[in-house]
Order: sequence, then structure tokens, then C-alpha cells
Amino acid sequence: MQKLINILSNNSEKSKIVEKNLISKLNSLDFKIPKEFDDNAQLSICIGGDGSFLNAVRNYDFPQMPFVGINTGHLGFFQEVYPYNIDTFLDLYLKKEYYIQKINPVEASICTRTHCVNAIGINEIVIKGDKSRTIHMNISVNDKMIQNFSGDGIIISTPSGSTAYNYSSGGSIVDPSIKVLQITPLSPINTNAYRSFTSSVILPHDATIKIFPEYRFENSILVSADGIEHKHEEIVKIEITTSQMDINLLRFKDYDFWTKVSEKFL
Ligand code: NAP
Ligand code: MN
Repeated sequence: MQKLINILSNNSEKSKIVEKNLISKLNSLDFKIPKEFDDNAQLSICIGGDGSFLNAVRNYDFPQMPFVGINTGHLGFFQEVYPYNIDTFLDLYLKKEYYIQKINPVEASICTRTHCVNAIGINEIVIKGDKSRTIHMNISVNDKMIQNFSGDGIIISTPSGSTAYNYSSGGSIVDPSIKVLQITPLSPINTNAYRSFTSSVILPHDATIKIFPEYRFENSILVSADGIEHKHEEIVKIEITTSQMDINLLRFKDYDFWTKVSEKFL
């Protein structure tokens, strides 16, 4: 059987150098690197930052093989390997000294009056006004109305997205062993005129969140998934759930989430 590994690199000069070096090391270990992304590969290696990892998984339609990242980017929170420890990574990989961390994206079904489309976020789904006006929306959880939100918008974050936009907006960092959906408000208005929760709300992973926009001033709302915008006119409902799909991340034995958080953030 052919030993196939996909390599997905961004276009930075540094990534291209790492890619070239990695290909020659893998070739000497009898791995083949397909020219086009191959669904039958045993591993996909992303070279770049978090954005490269997020894009790769999305562009190849959430493939099931494990992913591992080599960080040549800015933050590289998802990325497990650095260019200087590629040899150690290959050694541990060949010895199978790793485990697979499964993460689940968040899924939105965005419905207009005539049809629904899906959006998937590995980090989060963001719902915002697309102009500079306040947006107003009713939010229900498991078909119980919980609030009429007014403000800039909301983030619905996965546990692994909790360290991204969610965290910059005052949301909590979630330990990856806890399965939740977190709703974090963006500049919520809490006055006599409008009442919104001002903190994040943390829900079980199997909750169904429904959002019903109120169109008082405008009729367009922006939905973005991991920073990728989906613009639709006259959205009447957005239904948000945890996706059943798994993304498989390769982790080595010394991977520790909280060590990484303090290294990257403090
Ligand atoms: P980007 O503009 O480069 O992302 C902003 C920063 O978020 C980058 O430093 C990125 O890391 C980092 N990041 C991405 N996922 C992360 C995670 N799970 N934990 C910690 N940091 C993370 O755009 P991008 O690289 O395509 O990433 C898309 C993400 O950007 C979105 O999913 C959203 O979470 C985030 N974002 C954040 C803000 C904000 O904080 N105000 C606003 C918009 C979007 P790299 O440097 O390694 O790429
Ligand atoms: Mn980025």
C-alpha cells in the first residue's frame, strides 16, 4: 500500500522553505506526497498559521484523516509542530506516539423566506448587522425564548474556537474536554430601552439555538463562519447546533491545552 501524506502550505516564503524540506524528509521515509489533495492519505500536514489550518479543512470539505500543523504563521494555536522540531515530529509519528483529539464544529442553517443554506464554523459562527446600526434578534434555546438581544451581534463559539474571536470579545476559554456552545455578545445594549445579557452564556453542546432577526431598520444580516462571510437578504431564522462531524487533530503526548494557552496568551 502506498504511504500518502497531503501537504497543504500557505504561500509565505517561510512556509515554502519548510514545505520543501518536509517533502524531502518524507520522500526519504518512503512517503508519497500527492500533487492534488488525496482523501485516502493517512495524514494531512498544514504549513502556516491557524488560518491555513482552518482554510485547509474547509477547502477540502472536512476530511476525516488526522491533521497536524507546522506553525510558520503568527499565532498558530491549532498548530502542534514548529519548523525546528520536524524531525522529532516525524520520529514520534512513525513510532505512533500520538493520539487523536476530536473536535466538533458548529453548524448554522441560515433560512430566508424561500430556502436554507448551511454554514460550518470550526471556531465560531458570528451573526452581526452588516451596516453600523444596532441589530435586534430574538434568541431561543431548545425552543424556549431566552432573550431579545440588541447590540452589534453575537458569537457562537465551539470549545476550540473559545480562544479566538470569543476570547477577544470577553468570552471564556473552555477546556477542550468540556463540550459546550458558548454565546458571547458583541457590545450588548443593556438599558431601559433594550435588555441583553452582558456576559457569555454557556450551553450544553446538544442545545439548539434559534435566532430570529427583527428587522426594524434594515434587512440585511451578516453571518460569518471562521471569518468567512455569508451574506443573505431577509434571513428569517438561523438555527445553530454542534455539528456531528469530527475533525481529527494529531496531538503528541506532551500536548497540554493550558500550557499552550499560557504560552500563547500571557
Ligand atoms: P486572522 O485575522 O489571522 O485571525 C485572527 C487571529 O486569530 C490570528 O492570530 C489567528 O492565528 C487567531 N486564531 C484563529 N483561530 C484561533 C483559535 N482557535 N484560538 C486562538 N487563536 C486563533 O484570520 P484567520 O487566521 O483566518 O482566523 C480566523 C479567525 O479569526 C476566526 O475564526 C475568528 O475567531 C478570528 N477573528 C478574531 C477577531 C478578533 O479577535 N477581534 C476578529 C475577527 C476574526 P494565526 O495568526 O495563527 O492565523
Ligand atoms: Mn491568520
